Amino acid sequence: MLSGADWRGLPGVAYLGSDGRFVINPPAPKVADLDGLPFMARDTLERYLKKYGPPLPASLEFGRGCTYRCTFCTVRSFEALQPGPHHRQRSVESVVAEIRWLHERYGITEFNFEDDNLVVPSRAGRDKLHRLAEALKSLGFPLSFTFFCRPDAVEPELFRHLTEAGLCGVYLGIESVYGPDLEFFNKGLTLEAVYRALGTLAGLGFSPAVGARRRLMLGYIMWHPLSSFEQLRTSIRFIREQRAPPKLARRALRLYTGIPVKARLERLGLLDPSRPSGWCYADPRLACLEAAVNRYFSAVNEVRDRVRTVEKAVERYGRSGPASAGMAPIREELDGRCLDFFEEACDVAEGLGSAGPTLEARVGELEAERLADLAQYLDRGGVSARLDAAFRELDLPPTALDLFRK
Ligand code: SF4
Repeated sequence: MLSGADWRGLPGVAYLGSDGRFVINPPAPKVADLDGLPFMARDTLERYLKKYGPPLPASLEFGRGCTYRCTFCTVRSFEALQPGPHHRQRSVESVVAEIRWLHERYGITEFNFEDDNLVVPSRAGRDKLHRLAEALKSLGFPLSFTFFCRPDAVEPELFRHLTEAGLCGVYLGIESVYGPDLEFFNKGLTLEAVYRALGTLAGLGFSPAVGARRRLMLGYIMWHPLSSFEQLRTSIRFIREQRAPPKLARRALRLYTGIPVKARLERLGLLDPSRPSGWCYADPRLACLEAAVNRYFSAVNEVRDRVRTVEKAVERYGRSGPASAGMAPIREELDGRCLDFFEEACDVAEGLGSAGPTLEARVGELEAERLADLAQYLDRGGVSARLDAAFRELDLPPTALDLFRK
């Protein structure tokens, strides 16, 4: 293009032709040798460093693609758009060179690997990560990093080694702790493998609970067309046991273009373009339940976000006062109220044989009662006033909710 040659023949280019029709050229083959690419542009990182200052994490890419075929996931179909292997990785040397460069140039010590699935489930894949851990340990500056992986990749020896090298957060794609869901999603996982991974990670200090020594972020799909009361209750018990944030209970299946589950739902007659989600429930009672849960959780979250903002600010600034210290009991109370409401609403919805106005009315009554209880707790219990005082005490700007959201 720079030389002025005709670009219309370039692979992957789409344009409006002179006859008014779109022309989409076939895609270029994938870049097989990722080491041959320059390090990614860091203009956004520079902008954020200017705006917020250090410490900030930098994103990194170890590899691209994934070899699995989970039915809700776009990665495989996205990768299939271009000819070439479904998954490829850079060398350890290339990744470590980029980490060293980021540290020397910007002072970065926190790194987030953005690969959809970092750990290749083979001996060679694990050996490579052992080599990465060794190389990171010998870099000569303290660093921490996070990545995404599957539960069956969590091998104790490998994760112990990675943790020694600075692994401080894992995004673990479990998706469900209800056996039939794992089949529906074609995860290729057993519940035993999921719980084994959770146990291994717990032994290394990883937990989804607020304040855990190391962060465990769970990939979870609570609501989907084949959801059932049994599955929802199992998930809520799991969230309680793990002390995971209740927001996990709001995650719903998203129908991205090209995902395999669409064809199955079409066969089952569960696609519904009139709904924002694009699908409907096999058990229509769940639509009313999900809507009520979302409304109640949103109301609680307005307060919970403020609590978390105060907690994160205290952690970041290393100072607190009478109003801002010790927010955990309030947060735990709010989380408990969410999960209690979820279970109570399940009882009401399951107790009624079918969807309809009676179900809407009963769930609505329960919601109104619990929202009134919440308002009482916030006002008479002094929680709202305390949060106002905590914001003043820490001198938090109105934008603090956004600043500390992640
Ligand atoms: S969900 Fe994870 S493991 Fe499954 S296909 Fe997508 S990236 Fe791969």
